[in-house]
Amino acid sequence: MHRDGIDPENVQPEDILCDFCGESSWANGEPSVEGHRGSIVCGSCLSKAYTELILNNTEQRSEATCRMCLENSEEPVWLGLVEPIALICKRCTKQSAGVLTKSKHWDWSKPTEA
Ligand SMILES: [Zn+2]
Ligand SMILES: [Zn+2]
Repeated sequence: MHRDGIDPENVQPEDILCDFCGESSWANGEPSVEGHRGSIVCGSCLSKAYTELILNNTEQRSEATCRMCLENSEEPVWLGLVEPIALICKRCTKQSAGVLTKSKHWDWSKPTEA
């Protein structure tokens, strides 16, 4: 997401915040993946989501839509850490993890144990 009150013509890295922890991963030089409508998940949230949803097979469901794909899927979800709570579905978690793993720009790999 974008910080409130920014100049859309002049967006700075610190204006781009992870939807799930509220940190500015870009300014911190951390990896992140962009979803629909400017939603962002950072590498550390993605690791947590991946651990919960894929490694632990957590079956948490929600009525709300996934922040990344904007779909109310049947998938289990991981809930973010900041208000308003954002959630990411299992499908987006897998997809985003794939994007970051493949990216030559980032040194990120999928968590292998919970
Ligand atoms: Zn985050
Ligand atoms: Zn999704």
